[in-house]
Amino acid sequence: MSSDGFPAPIFRGRRRGVLLALSSPSGAGKTTLSKRLLSQNPDVVLSVSATTREPRPGEVDGQDYHFISAEDFKKMIEDDAFFEWAEVFGRYYGTPKAPVMEAVEDGRDVVFDIDWQGAQALAAAAPDDAVRVFILPPSLALLEDRLRKRGQDAPEIIKDRMARAKDEISHWHEYDYVIVNDDFARALEKLNEILHAERLKRLRHPWLEEFVDAIMDQ
Ligand code: 5GP
Repeated sequence: MSSDGFPAPIFRGRRRGVLLALSSPSGAGKTTLSKRLLSQNPDVVLSVSATTREPRPGEVDGQDYHFISAEDFKKMIEDDAFFEWAEVFGRYYGTPKAPVMEAVEDGRDVVFDIDWQGAQALAAAAPDDAVRVFILPPSLALLEDRLRKRGQDAPEIIKDRMARAKDEISHWHEYDYVIVNDDFARALEKLNEILHAERLKRLRHPWLEEFVDAIMDQ
């Protein structure tokens, strides 16, 4: 009994972590949004993908991506070390399995900055835990402008990225949530709301089973 006469609260187990897959065409602000979400939520970790593409200026190995060779990537495929992997712009991208498993078992949420193929693979692999969010730019012209201003890609790559953007956007209806990033602060707020509501879902609280049994027995 607690001091106020009510039975002491019973054990509340750990919740299951949310696997939050964020997709968008390049330049829609997804990377900035995911970084800000992480800095605001200490229980959230970012899944660092492995890629065979070259690092862009300012990108840090092990932080933005694990930049690895095509040979090492193939070896990881053979070793079944990826949760999912895909070929994008002729380069390979994959989500290493081990860190995701570790985080989920620990009750932490994992954010994935992945394309529609990755989001689909993630939802198939973990249907109860995966939550898919698509970030839309307010217009394609703005997207192209952002890519140019970023100054990280050659004009022909920007052309490729714009073609790819349309293809990526065509998958928007496969997502659980869609956010139009026309106002960064509001988009971030919406992303936080999604995360916090998803954390409260019944399935994410397996301890409830025991809790309900206990209160029914009282
Ligand atoms: P970027 O080269 O601009 O960093 O990424 C290109 C595309 O690859 C983006 O749409 C990004 O979300 C996607 N991507 C990054 N990592 C992964 C991954 O591990 N798996 C999949 N399927 N896509 C990824």
